Amino acid sequence: MRVLLRGGPGDGQVVSGGGETVAWRACLYELTTERSCRQGVDLRVYRHRADCCEVHGRGAEDRCE
Ligand SMILES: [Zn+2]
Repeated sequence: MRVLLRGGPGDGQVVSGGGETVAWRACLYELTTERSCRQGVDLRVYRHRADCCEVHGRGAEDRCE
């Protein structure tokens, strides 16, 4: 299943995953009830966990500390 990452270093990435959480590089993303349509495909949205790493602005960081 393809999912969309929202927030944090992986903002906007579409990755394979499922379940409660998805790992992207060093980051953890958790399932939300949101959905997003990308190129005609309905994707589940996963949000960057607040306790994962410090984020200053959407997508501003390109890696975790
Ligand atoms: Zn993170």
